[in-house]
Amino acid sequence: AEMYQVWQQDKDHYIHPWTDFSTFKETGSIVVEDSDNVHITDGDGNRYLDGIGGLWCVNIGYAREEMAQAIAEQIMKVPYYSCFGHHTTVPAAKLAAKIAELAPGNLNHVFYGCGGSVANDTAVRIIHFYFNQLGKKSKKKIISRIDGYHGSTYMAMSITGVKFDHIGFDIDEQLVHHISCPNPYRRPESQSIEDFCDEKVQELENKILELGPDNVAAFFAEPIMGAGGVIVPPKGYHKRTLDVCRKYGVLYVSDEVVTAFGRLGHMFASKDEFDIVPDIITCAKGLTSGYLPLGATILSDDIYDVISKPQADGALFTHGFTYSGHPVSCAAGLKNIEIMERENLCGHVQEIGSYFEEQLKTLMDLPIVGDVRGKKFMVCVENVANKESKELIDPEAQVGNRIADHCQKRGLIVRPLAHMNILSPPLTLSKDNVDFLVSTLRESIVETMKDLKQDGY
Ligand code: PLP
Repeated sequence: AEMYQVWQQDKDHYIHPWTDFSTFKETGSIVVEDSDNVHITDGDGNRYLDGIGGLWCVNIGYAREEMAQAIAEQIMKVPYYSCFGHHTTVPAAKLAAKIAELAPGNLNHVFYGCGGSVANDTAVRIIHFYFNQLGKKSKKKIISRIDGYHGSTYMAMSITGVKFDHIGFDIDEQLVHHISCPNPYRRPESQSIEDFCDEKVQELENKILELGPDNVAAFFAEPIMGAGGVIVPPKGYHKRTLDVCRKYGVLYVSDEVVTAFGRLGHMFASKDEFDIVPDIITCAKGLTSGYLPLGATILSDDIYDVISKPQADGALFTHGFTYSGHPVSCAAGLKNIEIMERENLCGHVQEIGSYFEEQLKTLMDLPIVGDVRGKKFMVCVENVANKESKELIDPEAQVGNRIADHCQKRGLIVRPLAHMNILSPPLTLSKDNVDFLVSTLRESIVETMKDLKQDGY
């Protein structure tokens, strides 16, 4: 009876993020009431393996007692204090040093916000401030990619290149410019992967030249595009786009909101997976494994030196949030990283993530599975009507949703994304969990194929 009341309260009053209200109003929600490591349990006592890891974020797994203790201890010491000007807190300082230790190259300075969108908004403000300090006042424009996802605040949404997210909003087209998505699966059949990469790198250079290098401030890119469909760019793409940026004095921002803190088996993927040292890295999610909200914008020594220099015109770095460097979130971040290191979760991901990739690839023998792509614990299954032509299944069939529903009935949560399904499980996933996940997904795709036939698709 209590769960029914919660279900009703939710339906009546809670505006969910990213929700199709027409179906929500009909069915309401599954109430997630309990959790443990890689599983969640609903109000009716049904247990599910969480293949989404919350939302690509519960990296160390659910319900760790150590996390609860660290969080409670910090609350009893200092639950909140603002670090503006000349005060700090122990966890905010310690975590900044820890992030600087883990981050590649000379990225040694950390600004905190409450999540990934804010980390990206902060990056834009810092970049604009930086070029203003340097007297390069026209260097303002941002280039990002179609299908890149950078968040939901107005600025982050504008940089985001998922066209669906722009419907009904005004993107500042003077400020933000999108180039195409380096999706190897969708390249022309006759084009080699090398030529495809050349073309995409050249496109960035052309865009910078078209806008004028004096007007372009930064390029934003995820190491692997997440919400755009887990797009792994062709080999060399990041290194070469970084070179193009350096050639024209354009800052390279790596949005590691999903990829940092273990998802690809590294603390930071830009360096360890793609061999680049960006000028700025943004991160969130895995930084606290979602236990508390926290995001970070990590700056190079060079950028920090410029923004922290006294200015003749009296400009001050007036950027911040009440909850910048929230001590309890930072304490959660510190404990989270301590656990990741102590348990060598990156090593676990290298091992089990490779097995996961391998096993998921076996789904390619199913008639509607056109592509299985991604790396380690960041993977996507793309379903198509025709594997040769890569033609899509009628969007009205909602194939991603159907598969996710079948999985859910079988105790597995996967994320539907149009005709695709995305997997980003907690990093503690075991080999047995992988086997359950892959066989359940297979069964659900097979069931969905039957449904599609029955419904005339
Ligand atoms: N950047 C990337 C790559 C993301 O995947 C996300 C969220 O999924 C964000 C930014 C936005 O982060 P948040 O939702 O914490 O604001």
